[in-house]
Amino acid sequence: MSWSSYVKDVTSILDDKVKRLGIERTVNHYEEDIVKILGEYPETLELAKEVRKIREEALDKNAYLVDRLESKCKKVGIDFYYAKSPSDVLRYIGDLIGGGKTVVKSKSMVSEEVGLRKYLEDLGTEVWETDLGEFILQLADDTPMHIVTPSIHYSKERVAEIFSRKFGKRFDPNDVEGMVRFFSSFMRRKYFESDFGIIGSNSLGVEEPASLLIHNEGNITLTYNTPDKIVVLTDIFKLVPSVKDSIKIALVTSRYAGYRIAGYYDVIFYKSLVERGKDVHLVLLDGGRKKILEEREFTEAALCIKCGACMYKCTVYQLIGGVFGGPAYPSGIGTIIASFLHGVENLVPSLYTCLLDGRCVEACPIDIDIPSMIVKLRAYYISRASSRYNG
Ligand code: SF4
Repeated sequence: MSWSSYVKDVTSILDDKVKRLGIERTVNHYEEDIVKILGEYPETLELAKEVRKIREEALDKNAYLVDRLESKCKKVGIDFYYAKSPSDVLRYIGDLIGGGKTVVKSKSMVSEEVGLRKYLEDLGTEVWETDLGEFILQLADDTPMHIVTPSIHYSKERVAEIFSRKFGKRFDPNDVEGMVRFFSSFMRRKYFESDFGIIGSNSLGVEEPASLLIHNEGNITLTYNTPDKIVVLTDIFKLVPSVKDSIKIALVTSRYAGYRIAGYYDVIFYKSLVERGKDVHLVLLDGGRKKILEEREFTEAALCIKCGACMYKCTVYQLIGGVFGGPAYPSGIGTIIASFLHGVENLVPSLYTCLLDGRCVEACPIDIDIPSMIVKLRAYYISRASSRYNG
C-alpha cells in the first residue's frame, strides 16, 4: 500500500465516529473480560506455555506434517490439494464449484487472504457468509478489521441501517436480538439450499486428520453438516500432530479471545464426514508461509494462534483498527505475516506506524516478540531499498 492511500484510509477512519465507537466498545469490553477470565482460570497461563512448545515443535517438522497429512487424507478418501499461491487456491476451488451454485461459508482468514467469495461470485455462484460479523461485512461490501471479531468497527446503529436498506424493512438498533433472529432464519434457508460448505480450521490435527473449529453461533456446525460437498480451506501453519494438541490450542485461543468457554468447539474428523457420504476436499495454502519458516529470525511470527488479544491492546489499533496491518491480518503481527505474503514493500506504512511500545507482547499468550521483528523488518526493507538504489 502506498503512503498516500494509507493516509487516506487513516483519515477516513479517524473521521468516522460510528466506526470509532464500534472499536472502542469492543476494546473496552475485551479488556475487562480478559482480566476476569484469566483470574478465574489462572492455569491458562501454564497451558499457553505448553501451547508455545507444541507450536514450535510442529513448525520444526512442518514439511513432514504436510506430507503425512497428504497420505492420511488419501487413506480416508478425501481430496488433498497443496496450493503454493492464492491463485492456485482460486483455480482449484473455482474449478470444483464453478458457476450457478449456492455456497455457505464460515469465517476464514485464508479465504479473505485469497479473495475467495468475490472470485466465486464472479463465476456466478451465490456465496453466503454464515458468521454474523462476516455477513454484516458482506452486506456492507467491507473487509474484516479483526481476526476474531471481524465487524468490530460496526455499531448496532449501523448494522440496523444496513439491514433496513438491504432487506427493505425497518430494524430497531436497540433490538439486537431481533436482528440476530432475522439473520438466523434468513441463513437457515440458505444452508438447506446450498451445494457446498466451505470451512477453515483454527487448528488441524494430522495423525487422525481433523479440523478443530471454535465458534459461538452454531453456524459452522451447519456449514459442514448440511451440504453434501465440503471444502476445508486452511494454511500450513495450522498443522499439529494430534487432535489433543488442537484442543489445548483451542482452549488458550478462546480464553485470550475473551471467552470463558466458547459456544462450540467442533472437532471434525474427515473420516467421519466421508463415512457419512460427504465429498470432502482439503486445500492447504502455503502462499509465502514457507519463507517465514526459512527466515529463522521471523519464524516466531508463525507461532501465532490468532487469538486477537494483541490487537485489542495495541495503541495504534485502538485508534485506527485494521487499517494498521496487512490485508486480512491486522495489527503488528499482521504486518509481519503480510510482509512475507505480499512483499515487505507493500507494508511499509504499517511497518513505520508501529510504536514498538510492547503492549502486544504483554497481551500475547505465546509471548511473541512482535516489536523486535518489526525493527528487523524495517532494517531488511531499508537494506533491500538501498541495494536497489545503488544498482
Ligand atoms: S500475536 Fe499473540 S496475541 Fe496476537 S493474535 Fe497471535 S497469538 Fe494472539
